[in-house]
Amino acid sequence: MYENAEDTSGEVCSKCGTWIDHWRNLKKSKSPTQCQRVGCGAEATDGAHVKDSKGNVMIIPLCRSCNLEKGKFNLKDESLLVSSESC
Ligand SMILES: [Zn+2]
Ligand SMILES: [Zn+2]
Repeated sequence: MYENAEDTSGEVCSKCGTWIDHWRNLKKSKSPTQCQRVGCGAEATDGAHVKDSKGNVMIIPLCRSCNLEKGKFNLKDESLLVSSESC
């Protein structure tokens, strides 16, 4: 289970710009990506900071409304998680 890390929406990656650009840089992906929250079919517009059960913070593509959700959720594909620190 994952949950949104708090108070990160105003931050940007100093190298990449927005967090969805950071995600695309690390995944070498330019194509639109579906929101990775289970049960949501919207297009991902945000690179969201999510926390796993151990408190590790990573970036995953989510749509805007899922990025603002509180509470825990599952991801469709955990292999799409990228580090928020290295790029
Ligand atoms: Zn970056
Ligand atoms: Zn969504």
